[in-house]
Amino acid sequence: MAVVLSSCTIPTDQAVTVAEPAEQAPAPRLGSARGASVDTPDQPLTGKTVFLDPGHSGSHDAAMTAQVPTGRGGTKDCQTTGTSTATGYPEHTFTWEVAGLMRSELEVRGARVELSRPDDTSVGSCVDERAAAANESGADAVVAIHADGAGIDDHGFHVSYSAPALNGVQAGASVEFAETMRDALVERGLVPATYIGDDGLLPRADLAGLNLSERPSILVELGNMRNPADALRMTDEAGRADYAQSVVHGVVEFLSGP
Ligand SMILES: [Zn+2]
Repeated sequence: MAVVLSSCTIPTDQAVTVAEPAEQAPAPRLGSARGASVDTPDQPLTGKTVFLDPGHSGSHDAAMTAQVPTGRGGTKDCQTTGTSTATGYPEHTFTWEVAGLMRSELEVRGARVELSRPDDTSVGSCVDERAAAANESGADAVVAIHADGAGIDDHGFHVSYSAPALNGVQAGASVEFAETMRDALVERGLVPATYIGDDGLLPRADLAGLNLSERPSILVELGNMRNPADALRMTDEAGRADYAQSVVHGVVEFLSGP
């Protein structure tokens, strides 16, 4: 390497070849034969934007009960507190942690990632504002991350999308995204909810974030925080990493599909 770099006599075309990797990737990429293209199999999401909405907020104030549009003519609370495990691990922290892990995984694959809230301490925006931000981002995929609070024996994940659909995207791409995500989560070994929905899918009319969406959008309830087995996985760092990788798998499958 040192010999090549110190040489003043190499032909011009070779000189260019040497210079390219240096400007592409700094020091640690020694031995990398990669060219200038970033569209490699390792980065299937190059050029794609993913909007992640870690459900709920780190804290709340009186504005939580302010009424905002549902997207179907009614109104509902700006935001809700979410649930928690029996040991007090809050849903908003679970969703924040999983979204953070997902962001890293998605960025490594080339995606541009936007989040609906900046941290897990402040008062986050209302559900309708999150939908507007997701629309504004031009996202190719919008994923709201949640965990349910159901009966102690109920377990497993389910994926929701807006139904009846309010626009063409909701009628087409969002349904396709939900089905792809369900299949991807099953492929990764997650179990469809035993207590709600139909084989891991639950179309819903009452979620403002989905109703107001003009981008391919789903809401994933990764499990039931009140179920001991699901809760164990959610409170465990490796468990959260596995949830994140599983949802990322679904996003990649959807965005790299035909
Ligand atoms: Zn929730």
